[in-house]
Amino acid sequence: MRAFTHAPLPQRVVFGAESLGRLPAELDAMGLRRVLVLSTPGQRALGERVLALIGARGAGLHAEARMHVPVEVAEAASVRAAALGADAVLAVGGGSAIGLAKAVALSGSLPALAVPTTYSGSECTAVWGLTRGGAKSTGRDPRVLPALVLYDPTLTLDLPPGIAAVSGLNAIAHAVEVLYAPDGTPVTAIMAEEGVRALAAALPRIREEPRDAEARAEALYGAWLCGTVLGQVTMGLHHKLCHALGGGFDLPHAETHAVILPHAAAYNAPAAPEAMARIARALGAEDAPGGLWALAGRLGAARSLAELGLREADLPRALSLATASPYPNPRPVTEAGLAALLARALAGEPPL
Ligand code: NAD
Repeated sequence: MRAFTHAPLPQRVVFGAESLGRLPAELDAMGLRRVLVLSTPGQRALGERVLALIGARGAGLHAEARMHVPVEVAEAASVRAAALGADAVLAVGGGSAIGLAKAVALSGSLPALAVPTTYSGSECTAVWGLTRGGAKSTGRDPRVLPALVLYDPTLTLDLPPGIAAVSGLNAIAHAVEVLYAPDGTPVTAIMAEEGVRALAAALPRIREEPRDAEARAEALYGAWLCGTVLGQVTMGLHHKLCHALGGGFDLPHAETHAVILPHAAAYNAPAAPEAMARIARALGAEDAPGGLWALAGRLGAARSLAELGLREADLPRALSLATASPYPNPRPVTEAGLAALLARALAGEPPL
């Protein structure tokens, strides 16, 4: 067995149907008395519900979160938190709301808390992101890691199956890259494989029956596992490509992950046979790239970058963005290899 260093992040996780009801007691146990609730405008009703639930412990609701955390949005939330004398920020919603809570935590040292309603996994990482003038910068800071994460699968019952599908594939992508990461450990491998298994089992059931509470719980459990390992190891080619395409062409986050994942897995397959065997086993498929491609198809997820708005004329810039400051990857990344990968992903052809 090869040597490893395992460094889990300090975070309290509460999981279970109807566990939202435990939030007031959790805040009391942390000594928090003026919590500012953050959400996107679309999730305002949930934000209001949470604010009512926490009663006198609530400082207010700020329902202004936006995808990729524009710096002006972050500054406005920090100003609001200071004006209200908030002692913590609580994100309710997906990665956009959680990203805003992290940005406030970064600028003012208030603790961040999260009640996630998608499978992005951002709540499990100490990575923050901010967008200034269209350019996204990211960094790692222990202060932005949510101190408390409360997962209540009943809050995800209304997450539209189409969003659940791509968000779930986004989570699976974290686990896939964990399995071949240079700093992965035996524990992150077990969690990643179980995360893929849980999501691959649950997502088709959600597509068939969106209000299947057991499937919703299993998907959120899988997302937690995938997010947790994302927070502990270094990502590779797949995440590099998705960041380049998301940042450079404003492609939608989760959908881009859904399209790229089978192709990135196929690219890395020759250099990461053990990881591919574990992914295939978790998917119940013969091979990992084919299994990921089939799962995306079964879920009705986007399978081409063209569907997301990328054009053939964009490929040279996409290639140069994707090859700049590369992430560690099991197979050396060559321009020719990446060009072929992007061409197939653009056209929606199966992975090679
Ligand atoms: P999101 O938060 O924008 O949510 C996606 C959509 O789902 C939105 O339209 C939202 O209104 C809707 N939605 C969320 N919960 C819902 C519910 N329960 N019912 C109905 N609709 C619901 O996007 P996301 O995919 O969750 O997160 C993407 C963002 O997170 C990106 O900005 C990405 O960069 C960031 N991210 C960061 C990290 C990190 O470690 N820092 C990790 C993953 C993602």
